[in-house]
Amino acid sequence: MQDIRIELREDKREKPQDMSKVKFGKTFSDHMFLMNYDSQKGWHDARIVPHGPIPMDPGAMVFHYAQEIFEGMKAYRTESGAIQFFRPFENIRRMARSGERVSMPAMDEDMFMEALKKLVEVDKEWVPSEEGTSLYIRPFMIATDVGLGVHASDSYLFCILTCPVGSYYPEGINPIKILIEDQDVRAVRGGTGYAKCGGNYAASIRASVRAGKKGFSQVLWLDGVERKYVEEVGAMNIMFKIDGKIYTPELNGSVLPGVTRKSSIELLKDWGYEVIEKLISVDELVEAAKAGKLEEVWGTGTAAVVTPVGWLTYKDETFEVEGGKIGEVTQKLYDGLTGIQWGKVEDTRDWIV
Ligand code: PMP
Repeated sequence: MQDIRIELREDKREKPQDMSKVKFGKTFSDHMFLMNYDSQKGWHDARIVPHGPIPMDPGAMVFHYAQEIFEGMKAYRTESGAIQFFRPFENIRRMARSGERVSMPAMDEDMFMEALKKLVEVDKEWVPSEEGTSLYIRPFMIATDVGLGVHASDSYLFCILTCPVGSYYPEGINPIKILIEDQDVRAVRGGTGYAKCGGNYAASIRASVRAGKKGFSQVLWLDGVERKYVEEVGAMNIMFKIDGKIYTPELNGSVLPGVTRKSSIELLKDWGYEVIEKLISVDELVEAAKAGKLEEVWGTGTAAVVTPVGWLTYKDETFEVEGGKIGEVTQKLYDGLTGIQWGKVEDTRDWIV
């Protein structure tokens, strides 16, 4: 493994006094990790430096053809003051799979983990300790070759930023309203849906803006071919409790394989629930809702952990779930996951680093 050069910043920046006022992803810690790649030298020049602008040529390929991938993960402070990661190798491996899809090189897993540990160690005072807070970690990689020809870049920059983030639910968990989007699609099979690349998110913004104007928190995406099967919601995977069983869309190439999704499925199975991964059509959902069998709906993701869905709207018809209240399984899953993440519940699965 390569050594990481550390250049500490000399000026002292203010840390947030009141975590409840910190907007998600707007406040950055003091330092960032950088490492370069090119086909001759491979990965080189690992360094932790003060957070700041990266000088770049406007002809760099990332600006033109979006050869870019990223990750989203968190470090949590436990009651004893220790700092821990939740299943970091899941994110490290997903980033390698994302990179493969858009022809970008993978970072050595142990080097990546070392970078995460060193960066959080250097900025440990930025890891908040208030209830529900954490340090959000954003690794990303960009194509840096200068030139307008469309091809795989020869050189890349890998970077990790960190942000202290407040509790997602300062006022308690409130179910959200979701619009089932039947015009735009986020991803198609054979495309980049399973990869965490910036372009997927650019494609998703228009529908989110439209839905936001109508008072919805997020859109629920449908498949790109028939607009028939549900995929995922905003930056979360989706789960349904129908007639006592848990259903979630299968990973068919256009859905992002969420770490929270995977962990939720494992926990639910351990607790004795039947979890079925399959294609789920909107018609099935509507039918279940009309028959009073759509018992719970929730989204899963790193930012919010588990978000209950209280209302689903499809073509001007709205279905209320659980009387717009958080359901029993949703709450149990939230408590189970956050218990492990913040070290309140013993980690018997080797999820914590
Ligand atoms: N779907 C999409 C499109 C996402 O961006 C995310 C957030 N990474 C998720 C699902 C949830 O994934 P995870 O549980 O790994 O955060």
